[in-house]
Amino acid sequence: MDLHVYRNSQDRWHDLRSVARECGAVLALNAVTLEELVERLTPDLKAATAGQRLAVTAAILKRCERTDRAGRLPSFPNLTRYAYHAIDELKAACIRPSELRSAGAAHLADILEQYDQALRKAALDDPHDRRALAALRVRESGIPWLGRFQRVVIHALYDLTEAEFLLMRSLIEVLPDGGAVILFNTTTNIKPTQYAEWTWQRFVQDESLAEKTFPEFCRPSRPNHPLLEKLFVFEPHEPLPPDDSLRIVEASGRYDEVQIIGNDIVDLLHRGESPNEIAVVVRHIETYGEMIEDVFTRYGIPHSFDTGVPLLRIPFIKYWLALLDLVTSERSREALARVMSSAYFIPRLSPKIDVDRVLAGAGYIDRNHVRASQLVARKSSPLTAELERFEQFLDELENSTGTVVDFLSRLRPESSFAQRDRQAWRVLVEELEAVRAISAPDEGLSFPEFRKLASEIAGLRTVDRMISAPAPPGVPRVRIVSPHSLGYREYRWIFAPGFADGEFPSRSASNPLLPDETIEAINGRIRPRRLMTSRDRNRKEPLYLFMILDSAARRATLTYPGSTLEGEIISPSIYVGEIARHYDPAAGAVGEAQARQRAAVTGEAQARQRAAVTIDRPGAHRAPLQPRGEGEWLSAVAHEWRCGRITEERAQQLLGDELLERGKAESRGSARADIGRGVFEVDRVWHPSELNSLKTCPFVFLARHGMKLRRGEMPDFEVPPLDIGILVHAILRDFHAEPVPASEELARARMDEIVRRRLAPADVNGQGPHSVFDPSLWKIRRQQIVAVLHRYVDFAVHDALDGFETQSAYLDNALPPARLGEVLLCGRPDHVSTHRAGDRIDGIRIDDFKYSAASGSTARLLKESFQIPTYAYLAIQALGADPSVRTDGRYLLLRSPENPVISYSINEAVIDDVRMRVEALIRKVHEGKLHPDPTEKQECIDCEYRRLCRMYGG
Ligand code: SF4
Repeated sequence: MDLHVYRNSQDRWHDLRSVARECGAVLALNAVTLEELVERLTPDLKAATAGQRLAVTAAILKRCERTDRAGRLPSFPNLTRYAYHAIDELKAACIRPSELRSAGAAHLADILEQYDQALRKAALDDPHDRRALAALRVRESGIPWLGRFQRVVIHALYDLTEAEFLLMRSLIEVLPDGGAVILFNTTTNIKPTQYAEWTWQRFVQDESLAEKTFPEFCRPSRPNHPLLEKLFVFEPHEPLPPDDSLRIVEASGRYDEVQIIGNDIVDLLHRGESPNEIAVVVRHIETYGEMIEDVFTRYGIPHSFDTGVPLLRIPFIKYWLALLDLVTSERSREALARVMSSAYFIPRLSPKIDVDRVLAGAGYIDRNHVRASQLVARKSSPLTAELERFEQFLDELENSTGTVVDFLSRLRPESSFAQRDRQAWRVLVEELEAVRAISAPDEGLSFPEFRKLASEIAGLRTVDRMISAPAPPGVPRVRIVSPHSLGYREYRWIFAPGFADGEFPSRSASNPLLPDETIEAINGRIRPRRLMTSRDRNRKEPLYLFMILDSAARRATLTYPGSTLEGEIISPSIYVGEIARHYDPAAGAVGEAQARQRAAVTGEAQARQRAAVTIDRPGAHRAPLQPRGEGEWLSAVAHEWRCGRITEERAQQLLGDELLERGKAESRGSARADIGRGVFEVDRVWHPSELNSLKTCPFVFLARHGMKLRRGEMPDFEVPPLDIGILVHAILRDFHAEPVPASEELARARMDEIVRRRLAPADVNGQGPHSVFDPSLWKIRRQQIVAVLHRYVDFAVHDALDGFETQSAYLDNALPPARLGEVLLCGRPDHVSTHRAGDRIDGIRIDDFKYSAASGSTARLLKESFQIPTYAYLAIQALGADPSVRTDGRYLLLRSPENPVISYSINEAVIDDVRMRVEALIRKVHEGKLHPDPTEKQECIDCEYRRLCRMYGG
């Protein structure tokens, strides 16, 4: 009897299912996975879990840090993770500390030695050591169970580690008929498949083993065989004849890729294909896993994932780790709000409480600024008590020490879980609790150490992917596999998304603890064993491509996204170009449209054949996807209605009134902002800020002043302009409460005294009128403000000397509204002063403070602003001055101490020009023509309404 060894239980099931179907059941004692074989041979040994190995590694590094050994260890982030992986690689290659020392890697030798000691002390074994020990037992102990087998058959294990190879080798040597190694294809194109070839070579390089090892091929060559023979071969050759065994599709985005695949699979299933004969091969499951799950569930495709999900991606674990991060991090507003708003947060807050908004409203930035509970208490927020409790809980945790079990008991969730969360939490807790076995019972961890351990384990451990509509056991299903699971069996239909540049092939991550030079030095000492260099590991990539193409008995469909969600272009993988290179460019690199055109001449069948080797790019030629889910059906109906292929009446029946109305509105595009004549009341008082918005873009006016939409102001370390404005106005009011002194020194002394008084709360504890200032930034901004106020004092003194008098009636009050042409205007300048010649006003000066820095665009914007001309006109009217009076306007820039003033003169011509512009703008409002129409398209990039207007300046 043969002993069959498989990579995993799915491969075994595939082999046994025909027997099982025939007999109703099968008891295959001779078919085992590699892991089951090791368990069978070493039932008395206990392999250390991932968490235990990680904890041991972390403890070793901590010890190294305390001793002088630390000097030899490079220091970089995630050192524990790298050390964990380095130990794993060294163990997989059965490398001993003495060999590392002789290769000059003394620090790795130290770590490995301590690792062995720690596991021995805990009566645990490294999983790789366990395999090596199993190999030894096979050879030396005469295991009776093995006596019943004649031969071992090794099924497509082409990436055996040294420890696994030792085990297979021992079996081949011990069993009377040796062993058969199943090879995955018959290609003679050895170079790109070198990675798999290595496995075979290991069995035949040793003469004694070669005599007892025989190759077997798991399948005959497949339709893509001619292409496989040519891939990565650069000698010129005749273009390959087109066939339909390979299809390459460019999708508009990643989700579209998955929808195209889902659609094709549904078509196949409708045509009677078995789901068991379809596989989706995903190189980066972390990118595509959720999308596949979503689309396949919606389309009703029975499916199962062969790949697990890292604990890190399970919602509850994500929340739990975010909570741990909050303990030691700066507790930014976003991070704090994310945790407190989560459905997992206990006590669950009312959905009516928007934590982020409450924290933003209170001016919370992070805990380096002021504590959140203190800030919300100033606003008497109902969240105060909860924030106090939560911050105290976090502080206590931060400073605590305890065992893993202590921390777990304090952080154990109280909420009821979804099944997926429960399973993930159980796995994480088991891993963490298992750490007890390798530490002294009373050994305590600091909180940061516990957090690090928990996050590292969550990053390493995976759980089975739960799907929302799991198929019952035994029901055929489409398998979602990673490329390395291929090679054993074939599927009629293979779909492979993600053929994007930089993703497939993707570079293997290098380990700074095991750079290639160190690996070369170690390999020099351990021949014929070897560790893989990064170049060796990268050879897996072409092998994956080969296996995808070779495992498709009928057709392989490769897809790639054309762009990201944000619209950035994604280039296809170099493998797409490599494949297209071997076909006739006239047939291979064109789109389906050209192929269809050719159909008129060559006939439909040939056109279809040619289209099969094309790169199918998005465009008008591509028929829309067949709708599958309800949302897709509704979109399809709306599309048909918009194209005029169905009547409005029919659309109303299918879509309902609400969707129909929305569709009608959507179809108007940006013209929806043309709200119609007379909707806005125009016979009212207009403020210059409204006119400025109208001038910038009518849609900005509609959004800001019509719909009152504002971007939420998020507190940051910058001192808020509103607070600065309030403080400066108060200072000015006090300054002009008395006549301006005649000397600059006196005037400055008065200004300094007012500044000191008015800014005292901000100077003492950062308290502004509405928020709390960051002390370091306030120091900078204060200096700038004081410098500008000093310059203003100089102007004020000169103005006073020139005979200008402050109009104190308008210091803190708006000017009376007045009509300019047909439009009633209002405004409130910061300071108005007048010069008189006898009873007659012969000069007016208007000052307005701006919280900006001087720049070309600021100067232009201010000069074009309606503000100063409006104030000037209103002041002339209010003071009864002659319209031809000399009027100067000044903007004082509070963040530009070097160049604080932008000034210009207002005369009758300017006012007349303003009148005409204002009237034209108001006419637009009256007619309701408020569609996006920016004066300067380049300003759209900074417009806060650009996502709303859908123009993006286009
Ligand atoms: S993005 Fe441009 S077009 Fe759109 S509202 Fe803003 S200014 Fe107007």
